[in-house]
Amino acid sequence: MSIYRNTLLGIAGWGPLERFARRRGLSLGANRFVAGEQLQDGIRVARELHAQGKHAVLDLLGEFVTRQEDAQTMADGVASALRAFADVPGPRRLSVKPTQIGLGIDENLTLNHMRRLAEVAREAGVHLAMDMEDHPRVDATLRMLTALHDEGHTHVSTVLQSYLYRTPSDLDRLLERNPVPELRLVKGAYKEPADVAYPKKNDVDRAYVELADRMLVGGGLVHIATHDEGIIRHVQQQRDKLGVPKERVTFQLLYGVKPNLQKSLVDAGESVGIYLPFGADWYGYFTRRLAERPANLGFVLRGLVG
Ligand SMILES: Cc1cc2nc3c(=O)[nH]c(=O)nc-3n(C[C@H](O)[C@H](O)[C@H](O)COP(=O)(O)OP(=O)(O)OC[C@H]3O[C@@H](n4cnc5c(N)ncnc54)[C@H](O)[C@@H]3O)c2cc1C
Repeated sequence: MSIYRNTLLGIAGWGPLERFARRRGLSLGANRFVAGEQLQDGIRVARELHAQGKHAVLDLLGEFVTRQEDAQTMADGVASALRAFADVPGPRRLSVKPTQIGLGIDENLTLNHMRRLAEVAREAGVHLAMDMEDHPRVDATLRMLTALHDEGHTHVSTVLQSYLYRTPSDLDRLLERNPVPELRLVKGAYKEPADVAYPKKNDVDRAYVELADRMLVGGGLVHIATHDEGIIRHVQQQRDKLGVPKERVTFQLLYGVKPNLQKSLVDAGESVGIYLPFGADWYGYFTRRLAERPANLGFVLRGLVG
């Protein structure tokens, strides 16, 4: 599985393949995982999710920008999305990738964009999450989170990845904060070297369970972001055993992935958030979804012949 994942993530970075896929557009299979290319697509699907008893974690696609003008354009796009999202019934969450708004250029530039977005998010009644990207960005992302919380933006959160060896100590530090930040826990989606991340899936899964258990007793709002049904069941049991209120835990899944699991969680009365990407820059996001499951290549093949 991890050979498949590493190979796919490696091939996906090959320029001609990316240009071909972008020319073919969302119909190549990405439309299963992405609401559409326009903001109105994201807002429309966010309303549909609300009607199904779920809530959207909206995401304007974009990452690894290398020019200040592009970071500015992206930050403006995120601000517009936050304002438009205000009309969708809550709860409302929006995710931003730090490299989308300049982390590959300058940390201060990114922090300033985050400050402005945190203000807009507050006015719009939206919780703002910083996605966690590849391992060289982790320190800066956690520093920005701490700075924003110190400035009173406690409606900003981030993500921890169970595949990183460092995550238990990052969690220790975050749990010491008052208030404890809202946190999303994921396994991790990037191609990381073995000196920073567990290469074996079993270790990543075990680390996830240990981190989730600690987060349940730790005090903050916990987003269990996984499609792993064994882990979801474990968290539900552990939460109930510890008497943690249901409202302190949400289950987050990706748009287009395991719709039956999404529905069964809603039917069981759980709070279910759906990570809902929209926008033209879908290539990197889409290839990570392909890397997670070989069967997803079937959508590409159907898109090629369809
Ligand atoms: C809401 C949300 C937010 C996320 N945010 C981040 C982030 O900020 N940073 C980051 O590094 N990663 C993020 N991720 C991705 C995450 O790190 C994993 O790569 C992804 O969730 C797949 O792992 P899994 O936990 O579902 O477990 P796995 O063990 O990979 O999968 C569990 C089950 O779900 C199925 N499944 C998993 N993925 C797919 C898929 N794409 N299509 C179909 N079936 C699938 C598998 O086949 C398996 O049956 C996020 C994931 C979610 C759900």
